[in-house]
Amino acid sequence: MDKIQHNVSLAEYTTFHIGGPAKYFVAIKNKQDLFDAFNWAENKNEPVVILGGGSNVLISDDGVEALVVKLGNSRIALKGDRLHCGAGADLSRANTLAISNALSGLEWSAGIPGATIGGAIRGNAGAFGWDMSGLVETVESFFYGSGKQKSFSTYSNRDCQFGYRASIFKENPDLLIWEAVLKMRKGNQEEIKKYNRQTLNKRCEDQPNLPNAGCIFKNLSLSDIEKNSPKLASYIKNNNITKNDKVAVGWIIETAGLKGKSIGGAKVSLEHANFIVNRGKATALDIIGLISYIKKEVSKRFNLELEEEIHYLGFK
Ligand SMILES: Cc1cc2nc3c(=O)[nH]c(=O)nc-3n(C[C@H](O)[C@H](O)[C@H](O)COP(=O)(O)OP(=O)(O)OC[C@H]3O[C@@H](n4cnc5c(N)ncnc54)[C@H](O)[C@@H]3O)c2cc1C
Repeated sequence: MDKIQHNVSLAEYTTFHIGGPAKYFVAIKNKQDLFDAFNWAENKNEPVVILGGGSNVLISDDGVEALVVKLGNSRIALKGDRLHCGAGADLSRANTLAISNALSGLEWSAGIPGATIGGAIRGNAGAFGWDMSGLVETVESFFYGSGKQKSFSTYSNRDCQFGYRASIFKENPDLLIWEAVLKMRKGNQEEIKKYNRQTLNKRCEDQPNLPNAGCIFKNLSLSDIEKNSPKLASYIKNNNITKNDKVAVGWIIETAGLKGKSIGGAKVSLEHANFIVNRGKATALDIIGLISYIKKEVSKRFNLELEEEIHYLGFK
């Protein structure tokens, strides 16, 4: 397959701007390319790693010893109140198209750089009480388990088994999201635009400008905190700190006094403590070091275990 490149730097494909090269790299636009790439990898006995917009990943400094498949099927078609989207389509482009047709549902994503529809569905991305699970009608998925027949199949919303930042696609690394149909809600265009603007303004105020990968850790539920850190839980309840039944991990990290903590080129953002920023020359090792440090300190202070929302690619 002649479209496959060798030794391609991946840092520029991520919003963190961090990471070594892909051993092999291919950009995929259609189903034939997809079959060809997976057959090529199977013949060469190379693992396959999927990359969307790279806005929620940390790539190893040593790169990824695999065929990295960058999804470039970016078509978006509007049919009535449904958006038919390729997995490689920009979430922000889908939102813009929806708004220009007075359709609501994706405004929460305004201002997220780079994210694709496929990546957003896999992690059931969301914010401010909204997420992808409320929009997805169907997903066309490609199954590529090694030694098994490669095939496409359609998943209903229920089949996707969405949960908080979770889906069947995240649980099953042999499932690639290829296309999806999002059912949007008809609304008042001025109201939709207003909410979109408010979201953008909120992100501008609360989120850092330096390269980052969004929230590093998943938020915690109050019941988890009650079990392990009753004193903190009662403070949270008395001060009304929960949002949609979750406690923002940014608040916990800030309360642990870690805002601004840095290791090498990695720093806990001063704007939002659940973001780590790349101050210019951060390595993946710096980011990992800071993540471990935050986890250790939060465990020591509050007896709470944090779980990463970001995905690690290329680490052994
Ligand atoms: C400034 C900023 C703000 C953010 N705000 C939010 C927010 O408010 N809410 C939120 O939920 N997230 C947020 N994020 C994180 C991120 O944008 C989302 O999680 C996004 O959905 C990731 O999509 P992606 O295409 O970039 O996926 P990637 O980062 O490329 O990939 C993430 C994971 O999904 C896998 N993957 C990607 N595409 C596919 C596919 N088609 N099929 C199978 N697997 C796939 C990858 O292998 C990887 O494991 C933010 C990020 C940034 C940088």
